[in-house]
Amino acid sequence: MCGIVGYVGNEACEKILVNALKKLEYRGYDSAGIAVFEGDRIKTVKAKGKIDEGLAVKLGEVGELTAVSGIGHTRWATHGEPSDINSHPIGNGRVSIVHNGIIENYRKIKEYLISKGYGFESETDTETVAKLLDYNYAGNPIDAVISTVSEIEGAYALGIMFRDFKNKIFAVRKESPLIVGVGKGEMFIASDVTAILEHTKEYYLLEENEIAEISKDGVVFYDLHKNEIEKELQIADWDIAAAEKGGFKHFMLKEIFEQPDSLKKTILPRIKNGLVDFSECGLTDEKLKNYKHIYLVGCGSAMHAGTVGKYLIEGLARTPVIVDIASEFRYRSPLLTAEDLVVVISQSGETADTKAALHLANDTGCDTLAIVNVVGSTIARDAKMVMYTLAGPEISVCSTKAYMVQTAFMYLLAFKVAFVRGRIDEAECKALVSELLEIPEKVKRCTESLEQYQYVASNLMSAQSLLYIGRGLDYALSMEGSLKLKEISYIHSESYAAGELKHGTISLIEEGMPVIAVATQTELFAKMQSNIKEVKSRGAKVCMVCSEGTVIEEGVVDYPVFIPKTRDLLMPLVAVVPLQLIAYYTAVLRDCDVDHPKNLAKSVTVE
Ligand code: GLU
Repeated sequence: MCGIVGYVGNEACEKILVNALKKLEYRGYDSAGIAVFEGDRIKTVKAKGKIDEGLAVKLGEVGELTAVSGIGHTRWATHGEPSDINSHPIGNGRVSIVHNGIIENYRKIKEYLISKGYGFESETDTETVAKLLDYNYAGNPIDAVISTVSEIEGAYALGIMFRDFKNKIFAVRKESPLIVGVGKGEMFIASDVTAILEHTKEYYLLEENEIAEISKDGVVFYDLHKNEIEKELQIADWDIAAAEKGGFKHFMLKEIFEQPDSLKKTILPRIKNGLVDFSECGLTDEKLKNYKHIYLVGCGSAMHAGTVGKYLIEGLARTPVIVDIASEFRYRSPLLTAEDLVVVISQSGETADTKAALHLANDTGCDTLAIVNVVGSTIARDAKMVMYTLAGPEISVCSTKAYMVQTAFMYLLAFKVAFVRGRIDEAECKALVSELLEIPEKVKRCTESLEQYQYVASNLMSAQSLLYIGRGLDYALSMEGSLKLKEISYIHSESYAAGELKHGTISLIEEGMPVIAVATQTELFAKMQSNIKEVKSRGAKVCMVCSEGTVIEEGVVDYPVFIPKTRDLLMPLVAVVPLQLIAYYTAVLRDCDVDHPKNLAKSVTVE
């Protein structure tokens, strides 16, 4: 993971780098650091912990830096514990680097460099790259970068400074993302565009093993044969406000409130004449009619969106769907054939496991479709077809609006497949689409009275452990609810198919243990109510999320949460909102750092 930034221009760059790093802090916050050209040397300031608690304090002690160029890093440790010494930038005075990724052959390189007289201070894989660059450097930085990347294996986005090349930075990437931002008389590098939006919307996407030589007046790109290459300038269509908190206490809350808008942006462009239209990406009716299986592959919330997708597509279109956790899919030799469609789902489009799953599917010859939020990301570019979720930047580590729009996409896909396969007729498809179009308003209504979620949260905040239960689509959704809660409040929770509880897990229920029951499916309601009674009679305190008008038997539920009604099939899109808000308020009451949950980072670009 990690966030990388770099600046070359006319302004004192300390604040520019630190502010840009803050925008990337969602990518990791084990430590942060900057290296700048001060006089004839490279000055490095770095510290363990979040920027405000570590780096900013140290910078205050150092006094004002006047440097006009430098690099910065916010870390999610993979090799070596979070510590000052393992923080980036890492170098030896002649070369300094920031790195996002993992160098797989670092031990071999380290041994070789030790045999050449190099010493190592940190436990990171990154230090081997810094020292290897130094070893390969004989006066020309591009030559040194080319030799170095031909020797390292793994994933990397690197920002590099050579002491001899004052006020220039160099960059190269493979598998981990990196962009080069173009300002007026100033240039940037960054792991993603949100870091530089306040300065410029213009940027280049660095492709695999392209090298950038950046000075304040521009950038020259080289390939690995040292040929100069031309690249197309990109314009970001996200504005700064999208990456700011805008008066909300946390990004997570802001993004929950943005969901109606994100839904509209994602759904509306895909509706033509009241029906679903996927012509933008070449996913023709003919293709959708003929796929033997549809695989839905992702990690975390994206995989949970896929789980809802399975229920929908199999239920409506009677087409076999396999949901896979990306990190399992890639190593389990899936039975793919060229007649299958593999849909990979990722907010960032850089998730390492999902990317590898996509490459596996591409190699097998199947059709691949990426459902991705970040335009131009690796997964978006590497898939045979892509459709964007258009939710705008999601900064909170805990996903809300990205999950929402990924799930909305599952509905579009289900309606479309069902229609082209003749499982639903035009009138039914139009009716489903029109109800889907009413969802943003219903989602908004869920955020209008927050007290009920705060009340539930106040009853959960002291729990050691709790269960989420549901049946059918409610079970698929309860997985997401459980993940939200444990991710940000650190309360242990599990989601269980309600009917499965009695086969073991019910033994965990004890006096006062909270159980959150999602019960929005009319056909399954009576069964759910029985399962709730089973836990209730063993001492559980039950919160039930159900639609307005639901008649609940007396004494069965302790905290009912009522949400706007829509047809059962569409309920997950509405019912997820209370689950998000209950998790949010529980974490707030427990004084957790909601936007920066411990041990986590947002886009998981390492395996
Ligand atoms: N492997 C490097 C480290 O542990 C970078 C980590 C990352 O990009 O997540 O410091």
